[in-house]
Amino acid sequence: MNDSQLELSKPSLLGLAPSFGFGDRLGLATPGHIAACRKGNLQPIFAQQSVREMMRTNRTPQDVMSAAQRGIQEEGWTGAWGADADHLKSEEDVKNLANAGFTFFTIDPSAYVQNQADTLVGAELQGAVDDVVSAGVFSSLKELENLFLGRSHVLAGGDSIGFDSREQLYRAAVKYGKAIAHSEKMAKWIAAATQGRGAEIEVSVDETDSPTSPAEHLFIGLEFKRRSVKAVSLAPRFIGEFEKGIDYKGDLKAFEASLKQHVAIAKLCGPYKISVHSGSDKFSIYPIIGRVCGNLLHVKTAGTSYLEALRVIARTRAPLFLEIIEYSLGRFESDRATYHISAKLADLPKAGLLSTKEREVVFLDQDAGRQVLHVTFGSVLTQGKAANGCTFKDAILETLHAEAALHKDVLAHHLGRHITLLNAG
Ligand SMILES: [Zn+2]
Repeated sequence: MNDSQLELSKPSLLGLAPSFGFGDRLGLATPGHIAACRKGNLQPIFAQQSVREMMRTNRTPQDVMSAAQRGIQEEGWTGAWGADADHLKSEEDVKNLANAGFTFFTIDPSAYVQNQADTLVGAELQGAVDDVVSAGVFSSLKELENLFLGRSHVLAGGDSIGFDSREQLYRAAVKYGKAIAHSEKMAKWIAAATQGRGAEIEVSVDETDSPTSPAEHLFIGLEFKRRSVKAVSLAPRFIGEFEKGIDYKGDLKAFEASLKQHVAIAKLCGPYKISVHSGSDKFSIYPIIGRVCGNLLHVKTAGTSYLEALRVIARTRAPLFLEIIEYSLGRFESDRATYHISAKLADLPKAGLLSTKEREVVFLDQDAGRQVLHVTFGSVLTQGKAANGCTFKDAILETLHAEAALHKDVLAHHLGRHITLLNAG
């Protein structure tokens, strides 16, 4: 190890302090993230990428870590920062990310969540809960019932919550039982892979089809407690729509009421933080989130920083931006598959007929355009080529190096708005 490597700042555990995750898919955003972070008092996570996104961008865990460390060194950030190994699904994922020095491990047991539980009744529901028991999640149906049925828990604020009906309990057990057992297993892999240095765990069920009700959250939280899975944060699937790259869609009052219950349950079962995934650009709810969560808050963002990088291209290399737009439009229908978005190509005007300024507004400030660019980043960064033969990735990186001050500025402005609104709440 040479001297400059020795000087690199290392990520650390952030504990229960309120925090904000700045995902960076290009590896040049940390200076702008630091400038945004300085606008508030949330603990930053500067290295954060999901395994899926690393595959999509051909990056290794070490690439993600080193990029953050370079930015931290450049900007002279001396505070604590975390490194989030996001959406981990396998033991191999855990080992790879632990080896690169990550400190925060986001368990994603969504493959084991059974969303269809919400509508099961009668013999089907009975069969499904019997299956959860025979998979070893509970030693018997009796154990499940003894743990939960008819036991009510008083939350901060005075509300009581619990399972009064077998049907409601069985549905929760079917929906999340196997995911809880899998999370427990993953927590052990994480402990083994980070022996001697400690790790923080988040459990995320945000990428599932149906919202996590407060009672289901209670079920998850109490089971983690009983199984000694010590999570620092939990990401429920909230009510309303958390689409990528755009504002919240849904009833703000209903969101606030359910968030209050989630936070009260997090206090009862943990305490742990409530983690808001797909957390970028949700400007209408940040004051609510900041106010209701208080210190028990984590917000995760990623793709929004890629869009700000494209804003630099839009303002300084207009022809390149148009080429990226045309390419992304062509990729959209296949790349959108794994993302939660509602944009339709029919909603967009012909990019070539717009002025440079209009193109920035339509594709970086309006919902449909943002989502088209948001979900196609992997194709753009690994396969896309400009007409002159240069890969989009090289052209984008070259521009961001040349326009580093503008890049930092647009990130500080956009993510700074997130931080300021959260703090205001
Ligand atoms: Zn997520």
